[in-house]
Amino acid sequence: MTTLGNKKQLQERAAQVIPGGMYGHQSIKFLTDDFPQFYARAQGAYLWDVDGHRYIDYLCAYGPNLFGYGHPQIEAAAARQQALGDTMTGPTALMVELAEEWVKQVKHADWAMFARNGADANNIALVTARAYKGRRKVLLATGAYHGAATWNTPAPAGITPEDRAHIVYFDYNDVDSLEAAVKSVAGDVAAIYATPFRHEVLHDQFLPSAAYARAVRRLCDEQDALMVVDEVRTGLRLSRTGSWDHFDVQPDLSCWGKTIGGGHAIAMLLGNDKARQAAQDIFVTGSFWYSATPMAAALETLKLVRSTDYLEHTHRIGDALRAGIAEQALRHGFVLKQTGPSVMPQMLFDGDNATLTLGRTWTSETVKRGAFLHPYHNMFMCAAMTDADVAHTLQATEDAFKVLKATVKLPLAA
Ligand code: PMP
Repeated sequence: MTTLGNKKQLQERAAQVIPGGMYGHQSIKFLTDDFPQFYARAQGAYLWDVDGHRYIDYLCAYGPNLFGYGHPQIEAAAARQQALGDTMTGPTALMVELAEEWVKQVKHADWAMFARNGADANNIALVTARAYKGRRKVLLATGAYHGAATWNTPAPAGITPEDRAHIVYFDYNDVDSLEAAVKSVAGDVAAIYATPFRHEVLHDQFLPSAAYARAVRRLCDEQDALMVVDEVRTGLRLSRTGSWDHFDVQPDLSCWGKTIGGGHAIAMLLGNDKARQAAQDIFVTGSFWYSATPMAAALETLKLVRSTDYLEHTHRIGDALRAGIAEQALRHGFVLKQTGPSVMPQMLFDGDNATLTLGRTWTSETVKRGAFLHPYHNMFMCAAMTDADVAHTLQATEDAFKVLKATVKLPLAA
């Protein structure tokens, strides 16, 4: 008996046994029917769906694919550990080694805790920060995503006002707004959460100012609150170390996930000595948080981070793709905003946000041609992408612009 089926059949079966047929960011209900929903395999920069189509994957599993799917060195280390034991009654020596290596890697870190998903790391940070001085208020940038927990998940269904009772919002990169938020709850601030840059769905991305990054640090110091930087999406893509090192701003806690396991399920909270006692006092755990295989994969990933030019390569590939698409958009008369670092690009057509007609049509055409671009979520470069992949993608985007021009009326056409 085969359990495989094509996309349509699997969608019909899923509709019976999976709520909504699919949930969370894996649901393709906001995309066109040309997007794949179920996958058969992945290798390097490529994904194959259950219907046998191959894509150059610019979603990179929504981030985790940094060195290429199935990287031989990472998979060999994972397989060796898997044969010895993965989820056991407790951790292996790898946990200590991994903590030691990450403490060496990231400037502010004096200790590490491991978990499974990025949301876990952010949850541990929140509890640690509240335990630090017994405070309640947690300041978040409006719209910032830190995981699907009741205190942050974007959809209101199932969430009570009490779940957010002690969450205070400010505008990202706006020092006045941040100061006002701190002032409104001064004396009861447990944490300020920051992300290295603004990377929310449906929004243009942007880098924050140094003044903002420094203000987060200063206000945390003034309040004796913990500064949390959520590196879950940015980690290892902007830098081999902390993403705000170039501002010379160090957090007390940083949350990591996605890339650090080289495709295996592991997340991490790094903290400094100031936060050590609080992290020791809280109770957090998970059945799979101590599993050894992802830790073996994470150690190997860190070796590749230190020994290869993956960072320079992914930035170069990202720049080449951005330059090529920018030239095409201009030539075809479209205003396509490519924002954020080119290694994590967001592509939104000007004036298209309400309906996403242009974005959905354009990406639909690239998907049909084997380049998996997304109409409203930021994308990611991986080290396995080559100049030939960029060339293939640019042919797909060129053809997609032509289709767009022929089928969709330009917005704001004079
Ligand atoms: N924080 C950020 C900045 C993220 O981008 C994400 C995931 N997109 C999370 C937290 C949550 O991570 P996970 O999905 O692994 O729980």
